[in-house]
Amino acid sequence: MRRIYLVKIGELSLKGANRPFFEQVLVRNLSAMLKNSSACVNRRNGRLYVSCEDAAAPVVEDALSRLAGITGWAQARKTEKTPPAVIKAAVEEVAAYAASGAKTFKIETRRTDKSFPLNSYAICCAAADAALAQFNNLKVDVHKPDAVINIEIRENAYVYGVERAGLKGLPVGTAGRGLLLLSGGIDSPVAGYMMALRGMKCRAVYFHAHPYTSLEAKEKVMRLSQIVGRYTMGLPLRVVSFTKVQQAIKEKAQTAWRTVLLRMAMMDCASALARYEKCKCLVTGESLSQVASQTVENITCTGSRSRLPVFRPLIGMDKEAIIRLSVSIGAYETSILPYEDCCVLFSPPHPVLRANLEEAGAIYESLNLQPLIKEAILGAEKY
Ligand code: ATP
Ligand code: MG
Repeated sequence: MRRIYLVKIGELSLKGANRPFFEQVLVRNLSAMLKNSSACVNRRNGRLYVSCEDAAAPVVEDALSRLAGITGWAQARKTEKTPPAVIKAAVEEVAAYAASGAKTFKIETRRTDKSFPLNSYAICCAAADAALAQFNNLKVDVHKPDAVINIEIRENAYVYGVERAGLKGLPVGTAGRGLLLLSGGIDSPVAGYMMALRGMKCRAVYFHAHPYTSLEAKEKVMRLSQIVGRYTMGLPLRVVSFTKVQQAIKEKAQTAWRTVLLRMAMMDCASALARYEKCKCLVTGESLSQVASQTVENITCTGSRSRLPVFRPLIGMDKEAIIRLSVSIGAYETSILPYEDCCVLFSPPHPVLRANLEEAGAIYESLNLQPLIKEAILGAEKY
């Protein structure tokens, strides 16, 4: 049998004349996610409709649960647009809830087709009366019902019960492209996800320091890029070997400065790479004062090496909230695998906590890292 999913589009309603563009991108994204299934996606009057065979339902539901730009979705019964057909479908929906133990229900109706002979209130009353007549142990409760049955009278009539929450935000691909600095930690995958929810399409870069860091660390980041890519419509990854840059910092700079200088070099390199990748900003998983390299002074120093704006969506977030998001996108289990990334091994025991911008800039320039950074970019591996 074929089923229908009714998909509610969110914040897009704020976008006025741009709305068709946002909706088109949304349709394109969902169609791409479903391209290997029998499902088809249609857009009509500010809603998306997905129809599919029963067998494709898990794939459709999985895609809808990962789609940025929708407020909610529900499996719906599509019925003929006449009062008897609508009421019959509503009673069937109530029956399904009664069978699973609901004692109270409420009917809500939206009627955009004003030519339908009953108004919203009359539809609610007629459907509720019909359901009460059939199930005498059920009651209507408009405040805290066990089940809400929704009726929508549009170009067709739809009846549905449980509505699942969507991710909200904006469709990926409506807000330009950014380059995500993706490490093997918990934070940066979440940062990429958050930018995707604002409509940004991301590419990722990982700075690898083989043989100081293991190949497992690199594989872990590749895995993370796939996990985040499920929400970001793919996440192409560049792996840049930073071994020589790290060595140079280690040899030439004071131990306490290593972390800040390495971060400055990463920003420097990432902002150059972003030009090749046609990215308009950098994205990091930095969170204020979470670790020594993320004091406001040190973030100022690292950010100063980027020629592009640096977006830090986690800057004011609590670690536990970040972890909850990491779990919700399925990244956490991978992020906590114990392979150290390059920064951990080079971390001095007492790093500079409040680097002075001028001093940091002067030390950084004195290291003359540009040739090594250029070499690293040219040797970047693409995944
Ligand atoms: P994460 O959990 O994202 O690794 P973190 O709490 O470990 O973050 P840092 O190690 O200070 O914090 O890194 C801050 C940010 O710098 C990261 O969120 C990431 O965006 C970037 N970053 C750090 N190391 C790397 C790396 N090896 N490759 C790419 N980006 C990196
Ligand atoms: Mg890290």
